[in-house]
Amino acid sequence: MMSERNYKSELVGVFGCPVAENPTIVMQEAAFKALNLNFRYLTIEVRPQDLETAIKGILACNFKGINLTIPHKVEVLKYLDVIADDAKLMGAVNTIYVKNGSLYGENTDGKGFLMSLRNEANVEPKHKKVVVLGAGGAARAITVELALAGAEHITIVNRDEKRGQELVALLNSNTDCTAKYASWHETFSIPEGTDVLVNATSIGLYPNVSSKADIDYDTIKPGMTVCDVIPNPPSTLFLEEAKKRGAKTLDGLGMLVNQGAIGFKIWTGMEAPVEVMKNALRQEFGIK
Ligand code: NDP
Repeated sequence: MMSERNYKSELVGVFGCPVAENPTIVMQEAAFKALNLNFRYLTIEVRPQDLETAIKGILACNFKGINLTIPHKVEVLKYLDVIADDAKLMGAVNTIYVKNGSLYGENTDGKGFLMSLRNEANVEPKHKKVVVLGAGGAARAITVELALAGAEHITIVNRDEKRGQELVALLNSNTDCTAKYASWHETFSIPEGTDVLVNATSIGLYPNVSSKADIDYDTIKPGMTVCDVIPNPPSTLFLEEAKKRGAKTLDGLGMLVNQGAIGFKIWTGMEAPVEVMKNALRQEFGIK
């Protein structure tokens, strides 16, 4: 007897430019396969001038949703029907989903970080004192989520003062957290009493694996949780130095997988097989 035929898949994917090296397809397709879901994740090059047309295409082609990466995360806001409050604060959306013909925007980057912090490091952000290196997209997403989750104080350490101060002002005027800026023109010492330290810069990203953030590593104490956003390689020099000082560490691969797992659940309605996704990326990056 013939089984019922269905040649149509549910579609999701990513819009970016350049996008060819974005590895998200590897973890999402591994997750679909593991749960036997008839979904496809497509890596789609969309030039900046074509974003509006491409967004209309999400509805026209019945996509379940789409990820946004460079350079579309900010520009996309004006084409969406509903934007989540945290994404509105960050001014950036990395995940769209379609509900009743409307386009909803979310940002899962910072949420993925919080999920790692809570589930892997067992740290609850409430009342914590945090130091974040960097003030770019990753730092914005992470600090907004930390502040909304009740972090008490956040110090933003950044070379470019304007960018750092803008993030501090955003946090101070929209959340109950107190934030302050610290300049980064010489080796930075981590203040005593810091609970969580995050490298949210691009320092250490493959292939620049021998660079590490300019901080006094001896000011990292055993009680601190030290996190890196760099997914590849997950074991950065920054984290190695922190481990040597007895700190608990969290790598950026976990954050990457968790933000993808949140997107997976939004699109499919199912819990993501996080370990399957992480292993797929480990294999892709050639990590043992
Ligand atoms: P941006 O370009 O928006 O910001 C980069 C930040 O890094 C800026 O604050 C910049 O400082 C700082 N920076 C870069 N080089 C140096 C340096 N040599 N010394 C001091 N500061 C430096 O990038 P994103 O925030 O979007 O991304 C940052 C990293 O986060 C990337 O490596 C990306 O792979 C990673 N990421 C990881 C995710 C995950 O899920 N694991 C999710 C999103 C991003 P300045 O302002 O002074 O130039």
